[in-house]
Parts: sequence; structure tokens; C-alpha cells
Amino acid sequence: MAEEKKTNYDVVVIGAGPGGMTAAMYASRANLSVLMLDRGIYGGNLNNTAEIENYTGFKSVKGPDLAQQMYEGATQFGADYAYGTVEKVELVGDEKHLTTDMGDTFVAKAVVIATGSDQRKLAVPGEAEFSGRGVSYCAVCDGAFFKGKNLIVVGGGDSAVEEGGYLTQLANKVTVLVRRDKLRAQPIEQEKAFKNPKLEFVYNTSVTEIVGDDTKVTGVKTVNNVTGETGEMAADGVFIYVGNVPMTAPFKGLGILDDKGWVKTDDKMATAVPGIFAVGDVRDTVLRQVATAVGDGAIAGQQVYKYLDSQK
Ligand code: NAP
Repeated sequence: MAEEKKTNYDVVVIGAGPGGMTAAMYASRANLSVLMLDRGIYGGNLNNTAEIENYTGFKSVKGPDLAQQMYEGATQFGADYAYGTVEKVELVGDEKHLTTDMGDTFVAKAVVIATGSDQRKLAVPGEAEFSGRGVSYCAVCDGAFFKGKNLIVVGGGDSAVEEGGYLTQLANKVTVLVRRDKLRAQPIEQEKAFKNPKLEFVYNTSVTEIVGDDTKVTGVKTVNNVTGETGEMAADGVFIYVGNVPMTAPFKGLGILDDKGWVKTDDKMATAVPGIFAVGDVRDTVLRQVATAVGDGAIAGQQVYKYLDSQK
């Protein structure tokens, strides 16, 4: 007889990025039954990150490699892992009932929200039309399709600068279009980028449209934000890194979000709903890093244990 699917857990962790995986490790190591639910492969935004050189213990590590190691650590004390996008969270007494797009319902005594953030869209004509046909949000995933080509990166933060640098290893040339007269990225990343002969920065410039032929991107239309002058630039691909938006749609009814949609927590990672915690990028926080997500996850994993112990 087929084994019946387990649906009741002490803790369900929604999202298996660095924060969620750490929370799952701490909670399962405290002997709680734990399920990590993720809409895709574990690792979250690690899978979109070429190199990480500001995570303690590693001079440099590839995002997907770190994701794999974290997963092995997170599951070693018995945490389960399953696919599914959580669409609804209902509070039934002290229980949390989670429904996924796969039609599953899981019942948890406590929940850790670790859904992170999604890439913000540029919201210009041509972006959706050419998505996957030259428009990308992931250099690690799609960079190899552009060997020897000319690319445009849009944005001026750490992601645009770092992933732009990564793309120069593959492309002929990478032009970064920055909407202001300066970058937002950390100074150390800027210094490195300015030394890269294949990386060019064009300031005060916004993309107004992504253009292409019947099959793929051929360039972008631009506007100079100071002079108002419009122009067009040729490119084989456009990589967009203009920030992030929280992935919190299923939690809107719980009263735990701020006015921009990030989850509000206290310093114990507790939200306003008893038994619901949040960690990592999805929080209303001052710094969004692998290291901070891992720290949040450790606190939440421990606090979940204390919360459940106090309920006995
Ligand atoms: P970010 O820091 O929010 O930067 C977004 C960039 O996109 C800014 O330069 C912003 O310009 C620009 N932008 C926003 N909307 C735009 C639009 N419509 N058109 C053109 N440009 C637009 O986002 P991020 O770089 O993805 O980083 C997200 C978080 O992850 C940050 O906290 C970052 O520090 C962190 N991160 C850290 C590392 C690292 O530590 N190594 C690596 C990657 C990411 P303005 O400056 O004018 O607003």
C-alpha cells in the first residue's frame, strides 16, 4: 500500500532560501516535525547569484553550490521538503491551515514565512513580450545563451553591478544603464566594476521600451533623464535588475504586512499572529543578505521551539 502523505507538522516553513532552510534546520534539530514548502528548487535567490563573497566561511562561493550545501544541512535532522506554492493561510484556533496550488492542505502548529522577494519588473513595453527571448532577470541561468554578444543591464544596485560583471565573462560587452547620475551598489563592487574593461556605465538613462524582431530582442529605446533626449541602443539581450518586491500575496489577510507588503516582525522574528514567524528578505529589514537571512532563520527556528513548548 502506498505510504500516506504526511500533512500535519509542528512547523511548516514557506520558502527554502537561506533563511527558510536555516529555520528548518534549527527546528528539526530541536526534534520538531518540519516541512519546507517551496514553489521550486530550494535555494531561492541563491540560484540567481553567480558568486557570493560576503558570506562568512567562504572567500567566494557560487550561489547554486551554496544552496545545495545548505539543503543538505537543513534536511539532515529530518526536515521534509515538498513543492507547492502556498495560496492561502487560514487560522483555525491555534492551527494554521495552508493550501497550495497543488491542491494540498497542510496543518501546522507554527509557520515560518521565508518567501523572500521577486525581481521587480521594469514595466515598459516589450518587457513581457520578449521575456525568455532576450529579456532575462537571471544572469546565472541565461548568460550562457549570450556568448560573444552585446548586452544591456538595467539598474544600479549590487545586483546590476555584480551580475553585469559576471556577464562580461561570457559576453562581448555589457552596458549598464543607470537611471540616476550614480550607482546604489556598495563601493567595493563599484571599484571592481570600474576596472572591468568590458563593462560600461551609462548614467541618467532610462529604458522606455524593449524592441525586437519576430524572434528576439534587438535593442532598447532610451531617454536621458536630464536632457530629455531620446535614443535607441542595439543589444542582443537585456538583463533587468531594478530591485525586489516582497512575495507576500497569500498573507495579506493576516494583518502582518507593512504598507509596502513586507512582513513586520519583532527581534524574535515573531509577527503579530502568535505562531507565525518571518525571516530573510521578506521581512521589513535594513539589510537583505545571505548572512542576515541565515541569522534570522536561526532565531526563528529556536523561537518556534519556545513557542510550541509554551503551548503545552
Ligand atoms: P536595489 O538595491 O533596490 O537597487 C535597485 C536599482 O535599480 C537601483 O539602482 C535603482 O535606482 C534601480 N531602479 C529601480 N527602479 C528602476 C527603474 N524603473 N528603471 C531603472 N532603474 C531602476 O536592488 P538590488 O540591486 O536587486 O539589490 C536588492 C538587495 O539585495 C539590496 O539590499 C542589495 O544590497 C542586496 N544585494 C546584496 C549583494 C551583496 O551584498 N553582494 C548582492 C546583490 C544584492 P535608484 O538607485 O535610482 O533607486
